[in-house]
Amino acid sequence: MTCLLKSGQRCLLLFSLLLCCFSAQSGDPEAVTVLEERVRVGAKQLALLEDTAGALSYQQVATAWQNDQFTSLASDSLNRGITDSVYWARLQIVNPDSVSRRFILSHDYAPTDDVRLYTGPGQADVRAAGDSVAVPSGTWRGRVAAFELELPPDSSEVVYLRVATESNLNMELSLWPPAQFQLHEQRIGLFYGLLFGGVAVTVLYLLFAARLAQEPNALLLAAYLTAYGFYLAFLNGFPSLWLPDTLLPYINTLHLASIGLLFGFGAMFYRRYLLLATHNTWADRFVALLQWLAFAVVFSPVLPTALLAAILALVTGVGPLFTIGFAFYLWYRRRPHASVFALGWTIAHLGSMLGTLRVSGYLANSDLLLHLPAIGCAVAFACFTWSIAHRLSVERAYAYTDYLTGLANRRLFSSQGELEYDRARRYGHPLSLVLLDVDHFKRVNDTWGHAYGDRVLRKLAEHCQKESRTSDLVVRLGGEEFAILLVETPIAEARKIAERLRLAQMSDAAQDRTITISLGISELLPDDRGIEDLLQRADAAMYRAKEAGRNRIELQVEATGLT
Ligand code: GH3
Ligand code: MG
Ligand code: MG
Repeated sequence: MTCLLKSGQRCLLLFSLLLCCFSAQSGDPEAVTVLEERVRVGAKQLALLEDTAGALSYQQVATAWQNDQFTSLASDSLNRGITDSVYWARLQIVNPDSVSRRFILSHDYAPTDDVRLYTGPGQADVRAAGDSVAVPSGTWRGRVAAFELELPPDSSEVVYLRVATESNLNMELSLWPPAQFQLHEQRIGLFYGLLFGGVAVTVLYLLFAARLAQEPNALLLAAYLTAYGFYLAFLNGFPSLWLPDTLLPYINTLHLASIGLLFGFGAMFYRRYLLLATHNTWADRFVALLQWLAFAVVFSPVLPTALLAAILALVTGVGPLFTIGFAFYLWYRRRPHASVFALGWTIAHLGSMLGTLRVSGYLANSDLLLHLPAIGCAVAFACFTWSIAHRLSVERAYAYTDYLTGLANRRLFSSQGELEYDRARRYGHPLSLVLLDVDHFKRVNDTWGHAYGDRVLRKLAEHCQKESRTSDLVVRLGGEEFAILLVETPIAEARKIAERLRLAQMSDAAQDRTITISLGISELLPDDRGIEDLLQRADAAMYRAKEAGRNRIELQVEATGLT
């Protein structure tokens, strides 16, 4: 998280100050040399002065340097965490070459409110993300605060930077040859352009899935992903490029709102997707509480600072830990669809949890840590979207599949059967239908139990599949009644298949009792109007087989015209 704890800084002040403690180092900081490549300013090259009230003038700061009041950083971390103070940094830049050098000094953390550069006699150059910066191809609005400087041959210059922000304050600085700065920004733009493009396409897919497949999870995921996109955009300073100037001062408030929406929609998606209310009421209530607290963050300007800090700690700290743990617990309990979801959820929150540690000053503000949430976002949302697509495909399969036998059901028979009927009619090909019903199945159930009856049905389904071809359609029509639609098959051929099936069922070695079936067969006739006509004739034939004593095959009585 970036300026996640932003407005709650007073509550965290004590904590931050502990993290941000300095220890004096002997000797002046080392100078930074301008090179033909990017130079990152290290901790040993900065002298810092904490301005607790934020009231010092440049002259007072320069005097403080004369009086040895600056301190050097004890650790390598340039991250000051959340702090109420303003920080001044003193930096000596050297150009050892015999040519004059133009370069850009960038402050590498986009969500910073106010960065001022003082050079020479101390005329302040105030910059923030969104201000223009001169690059070789012209003038750009910068994603981060950046200043153009020039050093004459064999010279050195001392510059002072004053950094003030309500969010995470850090002193990551780089010196760039202007062309390289431009290239770097173009690469970042390309990377995030691809990411935001992917986000937009995925959101569209999810919206269509929500609308067409009546899948509310997809709608929630679309909202969650959109909020994630905005959060990443703010974290990397992109809104500064397109927001009107009047909104630039509210960037931190908007960023905080995007975080509130992110965690709010995330919690809603979590609850709905994992059916939390069904599995565990208390867990659901707790995540619901986190959800509404997260949405409350959107109204950060009217919330008391202490309350906001507490809410953020709960929503972005405790919340992810709890929900990740609970997602894995549900996976362990083999809840449907929990596996890929738990992975995605963990990845989605890994970046944000590391970010929380960074904002608090525990971790350095590295490029990797800044862009990790973007990479996590891509992987996590691929997991979520796959999970939803998989769920839809499974549910679609269930809608057309018989649960007990795994065969096609009556619904699939109607749609697929009509297609086969049309095809056979158009090309004048034969089409036969075998209908079969277990004899005295009620008695089987009553004598040996329902579970035994189920086993018989599953075994019969296997026989039906074994005796037919893969192009045929084997269906459980309902109860102990099955049908096989035999494509390109005349009734004489269908009879042979039916006979094999009858014998296979009768002599089933796996069954210790003889259970027989009666079969009726029909074939496509010129006057038929649909697959239901074949079904009716096969049904009539099957009842004749029952009446004739069962365990036998009867054909339709109507004359066949196509064979
Ligand atoms: P007939 O030879 O005339 O077909 O007699 P029957 O007893 O097979 O016919 P009836 O239609 O009276 O009984 C069908 C039985 O099938 C009744 C019902 O309990 C049973 N049945 C339906 N679906 C299932 C199922 O999924 N599992 C089991 N075990 N039995 C089922
Ligand atoms: Mg029966
Ligand atoms: Mg029956």
